Amino acid sequence: MPISLLPNNDRRAFLLTATLTGVAAATGTAFGKEDPWFALMADTHVDADPKKEARGVIMAENLERAVREILDEAKSSGLPEFSLINGDCAYLKGLKPDYETLRPRIQPLLDAGIPVHLTMGNHDDRGPFYDLFPEARNPDTDTAVGKHLTVIESQKANWFLIDTLQIVDNVTGELGEKQREWLAAELDKRSGKPAIIVGHHYPQYLPEGSDARVTGLADTVEFMDLLLSKPWVKAYVYGHSHNYGFKEASGGIHLINQPPVSYLFSEDRPNGWLKANLSGDGMAVTLRAFDAQHPENGAATNLPWKR
Ligand SMILES: [Zn+2]
Repeated sequence: MPISLLPNNDRRAFLLTATLTGVAAATGTAFGKEDPWFALMADTHVDADPKKEARGVIMAENLERAVREILDEAKSSGLPEFSLINGDCAYLKGLKPDYETLRPRIQPLLDAGIPVHLTMGNHDDRGPFYDLFPEARNPDTDTAVGKHLTVIESQKANWFLIDTLQIVDNVTGELGEKQREWLAAELDKRSGKPAIIVGHHYPQYLPEGSDARVTGLADTVEFMDLLLSKPWVKAYVYGHSHNYGFKEASGGIHLINQPPVSYLFSEDRPNGWLKANLSGDGMAVTLRAFDAQHPENGAATNLPWKR
């Protein structure tokens, strides 16, 4: 099972034991009262300069805050199964110094025993990314598909982390034929459990013959047709828009648009991260907004599997 970044296993086992004991002692009930949870971040846009500010936000500090909050949450809820940053990890051009600033800021998650997965956005670059995160490289898919791909088999669902980076620092995203073939094959191997797809770009259906700029997935039709053809695919999780929200694709696939950890394009939208709890028949998503006063902060959205 390819994994992006794993903490030391012994340490994780130790921490899990510690957490189990702690929870049992505190509540008198067995661990598992709460469904397993996942810490979902996106669009961190960390620059080489840790003090770099854009649109009123210091990106590295926002990431530090999200990491602190995830670690705090782990104290009360136990460790998440994993955390992830869903693309645009780096500021604009996926430069090596950007990842040099990113790496130590996610290290506290690894030190606490929490795996971290990173996907590629249009502001990332695989070469410099792998220089700083060599353990994230998966030689099989790297050679066959040329993309950064991960499958995570978890208890209640399998997660498929795709790579929609087409050209560095160009807004359009794309899977491409090879990656769609890879995804179809990996999905078919795991048809017995709900599947959740995670990628940076949003689906964008354009009218036939439209010459509008493609800001989402250039191969939206092929990608969504693929997901729709596999009834065990329940949700697609993406970032990119910096605009938190939920939609449902025809066919009942949940579309989950993550908030950015970094800056907003619209002042009234929230930034922060998502706590996702998985049960066997759906997902509950809770917004952890950096603005505690934001009307959507703390609100849980229940997404029962519909297909
Ligand atoms: Zn972004």
